[in-house]
Amino acid sequence: MNLPDFAARCGWPPKEQVVRGRLDALGMLVICRRCSGSGQYLHNPLDARCYGCAGEGRKLPPLTARLAAVVRGRQERGDLKQYFDECRRRYEGARA
Ligand SMILES: [Zn+2]
Repeated sequence: MNLPDFAARCGWPPKEQVVRGRLDALGMLVICRRCSGSGQYLHNPLDARCYGCAGEGRKLPPLTARLAAVVRGRQERGDLKQYFDECRRRYEGARA
C-alpha cells in the first residue's frame, strides 16, 4: 500500500516525515541492509551516502494493512504518547 493510504489507516497526516517519525518512535523502522544501518556506502567514492536509505541508516518497513492495524493498536495503548509530548514541547519551544 502507498504511504497516504497507510497514513489514512493509522489516522495520520499523509506525509512521509510524519509517518517515518511515528514509526521510528514505535521502533518499527528497519535497518538498511545495504549499509547495515551506518548510512554510509563506501563503494561510491564521490558520495559515501548510502542510496538504499538516503544516508539515514534505517528505512520504512513495508507499509501493509497488517502493520497499520498493529500501529493503531499500539497507538490506542498510548505507545506514542511520549513522542507526541516531545513533539508538542519542540513545537512550543520553537514558538516561544
Ligand atoms: Zn543504507
